[in-house]
Amino acid sequence: MSLPYLYDLDLPTLEAWLADWGEPRYRARQIWEWLYRRLVTDVDQMTSLPKSLRQRLTEATRLTAPHIQAVQESLDGETRKDLLALEDGEQIEVVLMRYADRRSVCVSTQVGCAVGCQFCATGQMGFRRNLSSGEIVMQVLHFARLLEAQGQKLTNVVLMGMGEPFLNYENTLAALHRLIDSQGFQMGQRRLTVSTAGVAPGIRRFSEEDTQVNLAVSLHAATDALRNILMPLNRRYGLDEVFAAVTDYIARTNRRVTFEWSLIDGVNDTPEQALALAARIKGMLAHINLIPLNPTPGYAGQPSTPEHTTNFTAILDEQHIPYTLRLRRGLDIQAGCGQLRQSISQS
Ligand code: SAH
Ligand code: SF4
Repeated sequence: MSLPYLYDLDLPTLEAWLADWGEPRYRARQIWEWLYRRLVTDVDQMTSLPKSLRQRLTEATRLTAPHIQAVQESLDGETRKDLLALEDGEQIEVVLMRYADRRSVCVSTQVGCAVGCQFCATGQMGFRRNLSSGEIVMQVLHFARLLEAQGQKLTNVVLMGMGEPFLNYENTLAALHRLIDSQGFQMGQRRLTVSTAGVAPGIRRFSEEDTQVNLAVSLHAATDALRNILMPLNRRYGLDEVFAAVTDYIARTNRRVTFEWSLIDGVNDTPEQALALAARIKGMLAHINLIPLNPTPGYAGQPSTPEHTTNFTAILDEQHIPYTLRLRRGLDIQAGCGQLRQSISQS
């Protein structure tokens, strides 16, 4: 446990280590390529390195294949959820979603979550710990490796698994940088999305970053009264503050923001909420993702009926608010983002 995890190191750190060991500088690049382009999980597979260096790396760092504890695949075979065990015994879930034109992986940033959104399985389990940058990156590499073996490429990464990325800000940003590294994994920045429950200072900080990574904000309610109940974080960062931060983000970056809205029957699918949402969003460079709620054991809410959903979207149409009504994925394996772990640890 005490040896540094190889995926936690950035390239300058690795270069400094190798310099200390008296190795030529290009060796760090070689290791980087083995890790992030060839996706090896064992130092001994780094065959272009001299044996002595491989031995030194093995003695000084940790690199292990992800420990898969369980795999669940949806009946249609398009969604797969893996339960990975971390070295301290904690568990996280990673989900792969295959669409006609892309393959997206949904990764976790924390074990559990302190935000405590009522409807969320992760929130219901409470906070356990932050993931390191390497533990975040490792989840992406895990499915990239699997896809590669099938002759496919990973196209998108969403940070929408367990946890609140902006409450683990440094590690999240370090992981993003490692994924977009032009000498490493080379993920296109626009193919990454980080989702926050509305940590306003995190949104402000993120707008200062020099990246083109997408931002999604989980809204779910357009009045403070309702949002305070659904997402207790709203009592700390209310809607005005969240929207002020998002407006500044758009002004600074000129990037479109996605608002996530899980439709909960009779709760946030009312005409009042639709109108309040439209009033907030109107004129913003923003898009709404409507997702039917995935019911969880700890919350009585149910997904909106088709009729209520139609009533809600009709108001958005009238108000010319752009939205996408998403389908639930991997329902039979409870693999909706934000619904992670609980189902598997119960089974
Ligand atoms: N903490 C971040 C990212 C992880 S949650 C956030 O809240 O944005 C990822 C998404 O799943 C969020 O939009 C969250 O609101 C949503 N979500 C959580 N539980 C859900 C459920 N039971 N049904 C549908 N969406 C859910
Ligand atoms: Fe945490 Fe996001 Fe779940 Fe809220 S929805 S409890 S912020 S993981």
